[in-house]
Amino acid sequence: MSNTLLVNEIFLSIQGESTYAGFPCTFIRLTGCSSVCTWCDTRYASGEEGMTMKLPELISLVDTYKTPLVEITGGEPLGQESVYALMRRLCDKGYTLLLETGGFLPVDRVDPRVHKIIDIKPPSSGESERNCLSNIELATTAPEPLKKTFEFKIVLASRKDYEWAVDFLEHSNLTTHCTVLMGTVFNKLDLAELAKWILHDRLNVRLQLQMHKYIWPPDTRGV
Ligand code: SF4
Repeated sequence: MSNTLLVNEIFLSIQGESTYAGFPCTFIRLTGCSSVCTWCDTRYASGEEGMTMKLPELISLVDTYKTPLVEITGGEPLGQESVYALMRRLCDKGYTLLLETGGFLPVDRVDPRVHKIIDIKPPSSGESERNCLSNIELATTAPEPLKKTFEFKIVLASRKDYEWAVDFLEHSNLTTHCTVLMGTVFNKLDLAELAKWILHDRLNVRLQLQMHKYIWPPDTRGV
């Protein structure tokens, strides 16, 4: 159905990730994802749980939170066609809009004003074969001001993942064009260990925590 979206939850929180980490942010979590990452921490949003909302109703609700920063996440937010119209309308209203996507679907139809945070899935996810490589091409060949609207995120669960990521970054040359964030699957890999590897290799990536999991109990929903 056009003009509607299946919404899992809407909430106000501190942005826990990305180069916008730390800012108050309104989150729109859309329902549905066709991937099955082994360590997915939002499985509850992957199925069909949610409320169907018309775009004007959803946008009015977002307005009530009164934050200049809004993020659309999931599940996989690009799985629902009406998300493109939602992004356009939120940008038209002047919001700074972030899109967090699992990185399996192309972002070429996303409004260029949207700041795109694109996952690159390592082997431990079980889904690394599905990384959409055309997104890397799109980001690295974008005109200079638009390059800043892309950032990539790699979440690691092991040393093997890290070595895979180093190889991926070397071959894609991604870090010379865009911000690359690197973090760990919560409680699976020690952050100090990852920090040590990054420093040893002088890897040009930005280490990130999932800040919300340190502020609140890590399994808390709606933060
Ligand atoms: S893409 Fe994201 S929402 Fe989908 S299974 Fe993987 S981690 Fe979960």
